[in-house]
Amino acid sequence: MGRQQLHIFFFPMLAHGHMLPILDMAKAFSSRAVTSTIITTHLHVPMFQKAIQNSVDISVRGITFPAAASGLPEGIESVEMVKSEEMFAKFFLGTTKLRGELENLLEELRPDCLVADMFFPWASDAAAKFDIPRLIFHGTSTFAMSVGESLRRNRPFDGVSSDSEPFIVPELPHEIKMTRGQVSLFDRKKHEVETEFSKLFKDVKASDSNCYGLINNSFYEMEPDYVEYYTKKLGRRTWHVGPLMLCNNDADGEKAERGKKSTIDEDDVIQWLDSKPQNSVVYVCFGSVSIMTRAQLQEIARGLESSGQDFIWVIRKCVDEEDSEKWFPKGFEDRIKANGKGLIVNGWAPQILILNHESVGAFVTHCGWNSTLESVSSGVPMITWPMFAEQFLNEKLLTDVLKIGVAVGATQWSRVSVEVLKGEKLAEAVARVMVGDEAVAIRARAKEMKDSARAAVEEGGSSFNDLDSLIRELSAYR
Ligand code: UDP
Repeated sequence: MGRQQLHIFFFPMLAHGHMLPILDMAKAFSSRAVTSTIITTHLHVPMFQKAIQNSVDISVRGITFPAAASGLPEGIESVEMVKSEEMFAKFFLGTTKLRGELENLLEELRPDCLVADMFFPWASDAAAKFDIPRLIFHGTSTFAMSVGESLRRNRPFDGVSSDSEPFIVPELPHEIKMTRGQVSLFDRKKHEVETEFSKLFKDVKASDSNCYGLINNSFYEMEPDYVEYYTKKLGRRTWHVGPLMLCNNDADGEKAERGKKSTIDEDDVIQWLDSKPQNSVVYVCFGSVSIMTRAQLQEIARGLESSGQDFIWVIRKCVDEEDSEKWFPKGFEDRIKANGKGLIVNGWAPQILILNHESVGAFVTHCGWNSTLESVSSGVPMITWPMFAEQFLNEKLLTDVLKIGVAVGATQWSRVSVEVLKGEKLAEAVARVMVGDEAVAIRARAKEMKDSARAAVEEGGSSFNDLDSLIRELSAYR
């Protein structure tokens, strides 16, 4: 009714790894004169409000997460707060109860499109009720989506005799080898008795082929074979508009506080990094959801110390949260303080700020897709240590296809670390990425990838153009 601007609803999963790229996406759309409304639960409203205060075209609407009605303690409203697998299922099922309030908002505000997270398969029906297209946001690589499809369809891991015997994932543009232990437990399960939770996950996988299309936080030049594979071979409509964090013109201001307040003073981190030579520091962080046991943390401490490199290490609480400070190897903290080799961040670090500093030479990462893209966008080579979700698949893209990462050698898919990788393995991987001819070649490739990432979002770049064509199509649909 006379409304000129396209209006899009963005509805991310309640996890930093999903909310942050959606925030960037809303900003990318608003830079092209599109009105955005971000839908989230009340706990997360202030975080979004703070981040959009300079954006007139973006607003936030809060809805209520039904924690108690989902059998969860009051206040649990984010994947990061979920500690046990049982709570995990309750949490994901709880999100299905958000549908009523989402539909009320669709009714009230009548947007032209709904971009909803992959974990909300029911959002397609909600959008259909209001006759608007529903786009899916996965928040991962097109490579991981392609490998995941092949794994589920072909089940090549059924033919191996152990969790450590390698198999080749069939039908892909590259020869990708994996082991059964690295395959997601959800994909490994067979003939399971259907539960509400397993049905939800089945619907998640099915919804890719019955939605309007997918909007991916990735860029064509990073994974051209898989963009072709996913769109042409699997026949899905996809727009690649990333790295979204580079489309967010406010990102500089937000770099220091992305999603959460850092538990370390940004000036202190920068000062510490300023005192180090170029490409000399190893940054270690495993994202916001995975959990390391103390035994594993001890080995990481040993590995970092024996690598001889300077490091910044972000530590989230371990499973055994009591006396969490006491697990460091004897004298470790005193030594790294005295010789200035390491900086420990207990909690949340200003990751983008750190990755963009010229002293940072490598990133030990769990291969969460946001961390991966942030590293790529900063030209920082990676030491890959995947834990769960689709992280083992992202690892293969980095180590086997793009060759901008070296694997530590993780073999077991699990949110809470179940294997204890020896410190020596970490030290070896650090050496490969930091010193010698192999390191020089990896760094050169990482730098090229950074340049392509930045070019993709510039005017005329592949992601810039894809976003344009999506906006044109949605405007025409309206
Ligand atoms: N992050 C951060 N500081 C931290 C840990 C994480 O800023 O100490 C940010 C990181 O930059 C990334 C996001 O949180 O944008 C984590 O997303 P990712 O997909 O890498 O992993 P997840 O947390 O979803 O496993």
